[in-house]
Order: sequence, then C-alpha cells, then structure tokens
Amino acid sequence: MSKSVLIVGAGGVGSVVAHKCAMVPEVFGKIHLASRTVSKCEEIAKSVLERTGVTITTSALDADVVANTVALLKELKPDLLLNVALPYQDLVLMDACLECGVDYLDTANYEPKDEAKFEYHWQWAYQERFEQAGLTALLGSGFDPGVTNVFTAWMLKHHFDEITEIDIVDVNGGDHGQHFATNFNPEINIREVTAPCRHWEDGAFQETPPLSHKLSFDCPEEVGTYNIYQMYHEEMESLVKHIPTIKRARFWMSFGDAYLKHLEVLQNVGMTGIEPIEYNGQEIIPLQFLKAVLPDPGDLGQTTQGRTCIGVIAKGIKDGKEKRVYTYNICNHEECFEEVGSQAVSYTTGVPAMIGAKMMLEGKWDGNGVWNMEQFDPDPFMEELNAHGLPWKVVELDVEQYNQFS
Ligand code: NDP
Repeated sequence: MSKSVLIVGAGGVGSVVAHKCAMVPEVFGKIHLASRTVSKCEEIAKSVLERTGVTITTSALDADVVANTVALLKELKPDLLLNVALPYQDLVLMDACLECGVDYLDTANYEPKDEAKFEYHWQWAYQERFEQAGLTALLGSGFDPGVTNVFTAWMLKHHFDEITEIDIVDVNGGDHGQHFATNFNPEINIREVTAPCRHWEDGAFQETPPLSHKLSFDCPEEVGTYNIYQMYHEEMESLVKHIPTIKRARFWMSFGDAYLKHLEVLQNVGMTGIEPIEYNGQEIIPLQFLKAVLPDPGDLGQTTQGRTCIGVIAKGIKDGKEKRVYTYNICNHEECFEEVGSQAVSYTTGVPAMIGAKMMLEGKWDGNGVWNMEQFDPDPFMEELNAHGLPWKVVELDVEQYNQFS
C-alpha cells in the first residue's frame, strides 16, 4: 500500500517529517522534499540516508508561485502534499493541490504576511472546492495545533459526556544555551507571541494585552515549575466551533524571564515590526531582518537539553458529575536529537505531521473537504503517537487540583 508524498519546506519541522516518513517505508514508499533553498533539502536527504538507509529525492521550489508547485505535482504525481513551509504558503499550496487533484496537509493556519492574524476562515473557505474535487485537506497536524486537538477529542470520547473548559498548556523546559533564540521559525514565533491575547469565553473571543496573564505551573514527572503566559493560539478557534459545549478555552505557553526581557527590548526598539522601512535605499521588514541574525531553530538541536511538556486540561461532566482530566506528552530534547538530529519543538511538530499523513494515506481519516484534527476519530492517531516517539499519559485530577485554572 506504499504511497508517494511531496514534502514542502526544509526547515526544522521539514527535517523531522522527512526522517519520520522514511522510517515508515510501508506507507511512505516515495518521498520528495522540495523547498526554496535546495541545499537544505540535500542536507536533510543525506542525513535521512545515513540514519535510515532510505533515499529521498529533492528539488528547489518557490512555492509562492502556484505554477511552480503545479509543475512539480504534475511531474511527481504524489498522493499527498505535506506543507511544512510557512503559514504564508498555505493558500497557494492548497490552490496547487486543487489544480492537480492531490490531497493536502499542513501544521499551521494561513496568515497574511502584512498582518499577524491567525484565523481559519481563509482555509475553511476552501471547503466546497475540496469537497467538489473529491479531495481531503487536513489542517494543523502538528502538536499545537494538532495533537492538542486530538487529545481534546479523545478525552471527550472516553472521559466526558460534555467538555465545558479547556486549558492548553505548552511548556518548553529546555535550555538551548543561547541568549535569545526561538524554538521554531523566529518570524512566525515572534508574530504569535507579540499579538494581542484572545481566549474564548461567553460565546466570543475576549481580547487582552499580550502576555498580561501569568500563572506558575507544576509540570508532571519532575519536568519542573514554569511561568506560563496566556496567549492566542489557533486551535481554540476550531475546537470551540466543533465542540460547542466548550464555554471557556485558553492557551498558555511558558517563557523564561531572559526570553521576555530580550523580546521587550526588541519590541521597544522596533525590531519586531512587520511594516516595511527604508534602509540604505532598500525596503526591509524589521522582523525579517531580525530573523536573519537570530540562531536558526533547526541548528539548536545539538545544544538543547531538557524536556517539553505539552497537554490539555479539560473540565466537564461525566454521569452528572464534574471532573477534570489532563492528557499530556513529555518529550526529551536530547533523545530527539539522537534519533533525527533535531530538538523537541521540531520533533513534536514533525511526528504528528507524519502521523496525520499516515492516517490519510491508510484511509483511516478520510472524507472530502477541509478538516480540523478533532473532527476525525482520535483513537488510531493516539495509538500512533505511542508507536512513533510521542507517548502520552492521562491523569484524572481532583476538581480542586490545578485550581488556578478555575
Ligand atoms: P523554518 O523556518 O525552519 O522552515 C521553513 C522552511 O520553509 C524553510 O526551509 C524555508 O526555506 C521554506 N520556505 C519558506 N518560504 C518558502 C517558499 N515560498 N517556497 C518554498 N519553501 C519555502 O520553520 P519551521 O520548520 O520551524 O516551521 C515550519 C512550519 O511548522 C511553520 O508553518 C510553523 O508555523 C509550523 N509549526 C507548527 C507547530 C505546531 O505545533 N503545529 C509548531 C512549530 C512550527 P528557506 O530555507 O529558503 O528559508
């Protein structure tokens, strides 16, 4: 049943996806990796060959031009396009898939370059076209979004009659030894962190200033205690749409004091701006220039130590009683580096992208149209997480426990 896939994007996540697909040759029979800078694809292909013995093919692709991707899809005729380039490429890659009759998967929702807005409506607007073409588009198959959506759907299926509140908590307890670096693409990461915070309550998204709500969170299994900050994250939008009993949804992410101090200074001096400025007769975007001088997240693997702990705390009703359940994964940066040469943030995104693709290619997640992860049966995906390096645990909490979330 082996199939053929085109992976677009040779960054930190693209590298993990390529390695993990190569480790499942019975499903991913042919793998082609294309990205803007072909040397990055070649480097990944070399590592994949050394680590797995599998040869993957590569080529240069500027995916901003639909015709380029169309030409490549016509040549390769893959069963699925895995988009792990940047959110800016989502719509053009969906257009190319529609033109060539190819299924589509990504890990982050579309974002226009000139506005830091993380919303699904642009991609949901493709519903009819994918449905009519008899094609599937799976949106947000990373960790968050991605696994967090599946965790929520799984808890609803197995632990609750109704979920009323969710708190998604993303802790990176890792240390990369740099003064300032982001765990994934710096431009996307900084746009996300500095955007106004929104959470779902009383039937609408409520807006508060960025990073204005903070809690101290004790991670399980001695990962440690971290300050977590409330921020907007895209999976809340699809989760409250598809699980409408959720009355409150919040997302929290850990940040160290040094990261926040650097970010504050960079913001104060205008380095995180996305409006173009004139410099030496040339137009530059400050945030893109900042990205060019910051460490490449794909290179942080070698020095990063510690663990990530990402999960969903859900509150709801079962058999008339209120309960609270926490499902989480803990991932070790050094173990990821040993397995695929990447740190845990790329790993925790790349593995679910491979699993989402596997679900589609095996027909376990099937249907014409545009889908978010929580719309499919969570059980086979949860099994695959255990099998492919992201084992999870579930604990029932006292309703009073983690009461800071009340
Ligand atoms: P990187 O910046 O490391 O990699 C992005 C890659 O895409 C680069 O190789 C880049 O090429 C390539 N690219 C950019 N523009 C184009 C283009 N026009 N045509 C072809 N290739 C292009 O990012 P990450 O690997 O860290 O992140 C990849 C994606 O994963 C992002 O969308 C990010 O938002 C998402 N993500 C999702 C998470 C989740 O849990 N759901 C968590 C973390 C990330 P070049 O090398 O030339 O710059």
